[in-house]
Amino acid sequence: MTICNHCAKRFGAVIKRRMLDTDIQEIYFECPRCATVFSVAKNNKEIRKLDAKMQKVKDTLLKDKENPELMEDMQTMMRKHKSMMDKLNGKEPDNG
Ligand SMILES: [Zn+2]
Repeated sequence: MTICNHCAKRFGAVIKRRMLDTDIQEIYFECPRCATVFSVAKNNKEIRKLDAKMQKVKDTLLKDKENPELMEDMQTMMRKHKSMMDKLNGKEPDNG
């Protein structure tokens, strides 16, 4: 449940996606009463490409759980994904 900080309506957020330009996509939801837009995150073409790749590896891992090489690939991609998201969304990379 989310509370709109504009009109104080409580609502279940429905996540939507929209293109901000030809590269950047915004993930957001909006208040059903006053239509205030709450931005969740942004991604770009490179991140979406990596997303698709990760999804494929995830599907493979579901069928082939004992595949350390693929597990390692997945972890590398997840790290890359996070650092690209952090960079695009203006977050400091954490040192963990
Ligand atoms: Zn509202």
